[in-house]
Amino acid sequence: MTGSTKQYEFKAEIKQLLNILVHSLYTNKEIFLRELISNASDALDKLRFESTRGTEIENKNLPLEINLAFDKEKNTLTISDTGIGMTKDELIKNIGTIAKSGSEEFIKKLNENKQDASNIIGKFGVGFYSVFMVADKVSIRTKSFKADEKPVKWTSDGLGSYEIVELDEKLDRGTIIEVHLKEDEKEFSDKWKLEQIVKKHSNFINFPIKIENEQINKVTALWREPKSNIKKEQYDEFYKFLSYDNEPPLDYIHLSIDAPIQFHSLMFLPKKNFDLFGMNRDNYGLDLYVRRVLIQHQNKDLLPEYLSFVKGVVDSEDLPLNISRETLQENVVFNKISSSITSQVLTFLTKMAEKEKEKFTEFWKEHGKVFKLGYSDYANKDKYLELLRFNSSVSADEKELVSFADYSGRMKKEQKEIYYKMGPSREAIDQDPHLEIFKSKGLEVFYLYDPIDEFALSSMMKYKDFDLRSVDQADLATLEKFESAEETKDKKEELNKDDKKHLDSLFSKMKEILGDKVTEVKISKRLKGSPACLVNPNTGMSASMQKIMNIVNKDTSIPAHVLELNEDHKLIRNLLKVFKQNANDEYISNVTEQLYESSLLMEGYLADPHKLVNRINQMLTESSDWYTTMKKI
Ligand code: ADP
Ligand code: MG
Repeated sequence: MTGSTKQYEFKAEIKQLLNILVHSLYTNKEIFLRELISNASDALDKLRFESTRGTEIENKNLPLEINLAFDKEKNTLTISDTGIGMTKDELIKNIGTIAKSGSEEFIKKLNENKQDASNIIGKFGVGFYSVFMVADKVSIRTKSFKADEKPVKWTSDGLGSYEIVELDEKLDRGTIIEVHLKEDEKEFSDKWKLEQIVKKHSNFINFPIKIENEQINKVTALWREPKSNIKKEQYDEFYKFLSYDNEPPLDYIHLSIDAPIQFHSLMFLPKKNFDLFGMNRDNYGLDLYVRRVLIQHQNKDLLPEYLSFVKGVVDSEDLPLNISRETLQENVVFNKISSSITSQVLTFLTKMAEKEKEKFTEFWKEHGKVFKLGYSDYANKDKYLELLRFNSSVSADEKELVSFADYSGRMKKEQKEIYYKMGPSREAIDQDPHLEIFKSKGLEVFYLYDPIDEFALSSMMKYKDFDLRSVDQADLATLEKFESAEETKDKKEELNKDDKKHLDSLFSKMKEILGDKVTEVKISKRLKGSPACLVNPNTGMSASMQKIMNIVNKDTSIPAHVLELNEDHKLIRNLLKVFKQNANDEYISNVTEQLYESSLLMEGYLADPHKLVNRINQMLTESSDWYTTMKKI
């Protein structure tokens, strides 16, 4: 006798997902078994967790294991576990109805990348459905570990709906999944094939996986083995198992710490950054074990977010087994482990940066973007700063990486500040007029291309005793004191007293022309090759930071700047000549507006180029007249 059968529709996203899985041809279908085994293993982990907390459990003495059975005749494969099981409500919730954001993201990713679904399905929390790559019918019989819950059966052909019925028959705690294989997927009811798949994908599962009572996997906690016993291949294999990555890791960190707290940890640095598309964001964190019992999958607090690219496990001797996940963060032992591994990861990276430069460059290229979020880790500030890398004015190209140590090692003796400039590209920063004085004085400048770099530098403020300073906030008097680099020491013609006075009047005239758009027009000490530049008068923020703040505040107004002019530049000298002859010459206002708008353009503020382009065209036309006359054309 069984209860009445009820039919349910799959959620729309899941239908879409199933449709893709059922109808597409995938090369790597065998991973469905990895997914079912990993679900069984999760269910066993959860049971062990409950049991260590002292929860009442049905069939307490059942061994914790996974069994595979097959029937060639019926063309079926059965995966059973003695895990936590599911109640009827849980079954409906976990498999079928509740929209999991995972399925939506998975489909999006699949459409974007056109890659093999079987390679990524496990990462999105929709692994169960992969069974429909090989099955035309699946049934789940499951009995919750809670004594008063009835066993239930779920059946579906994976097309649009599923059925659920409560069973009156007795069922041991756990879950039995019967997979009816499609005609052309018969190979999955073959013992040898199954063994091979288990060894390849599920070798490190923490519970015995048995076929016909014979254990297939190893069940070793690799992280607890002495390092000398482990071959590189085993580390690689474990990493792939843990991360679903196809490639071996860039490197690994294996720790066995005895004092002051005892724990084991095995951590990996992936070759690739998995979060390239900003999706899959929660897929990080270390697995936390207490004496081999999994307490939490992907714990987010063991390592700070800026090290979230690290994959791996931590196994503690000293945490209580019955600790709740909610109170972990307040636990003293947990926090000690956390700060210990954080510091160990940083030390490891420091050594890599010293001894394996190329590897470190590879690391930086993939994970640097995330790593840069660490600027607020004050506890590890010193180590952290040494690991940061930027491009600089001294670099040969935009790829070269420079550390603070490189910079400070070659800076000028009297130099007390480290300079940086933010910009969209190396060329853009190179041509920036603000940099001219730094070039002429031979001062190195960090080139920043990512807004996060500037946030990081401006909030860290110092490297050792050196202040970190944006180029446009540097004190000109300080810069002036540095001796000029040899090749830029040029003799310029000094203006006489009379001309100096005229120049002052010219500048007043220009201020008049520009009105409120500028706060002041004055002689520049920073310009060497360019005629003009705009300078931020309020010194609290660098220009690029100010721009970011304006975007954040949706402020599109242009802040009034100081217009600085290069008195030695030919254009300014000629302008002075014109001015002396006729202070109201139209040419002066044209040039003034043009210099102002060109500088605005350089600073990234000019929204509408029409006036500027018209003016240039008019000036070009005039100069073409002079040119043809002069050349007698
Ligand atoms: P994920 O494992 O990432 O959560 P799946 O699609 O593989 O996604 O599984 C969905 C959910 O179904 C699981 O989270 C779990 O709650 C439940 N489940 C699947 N298989 C089992 C099982 N063998 N025992 C208990 N619960 C299971
Ligand atoms: Mg799963």
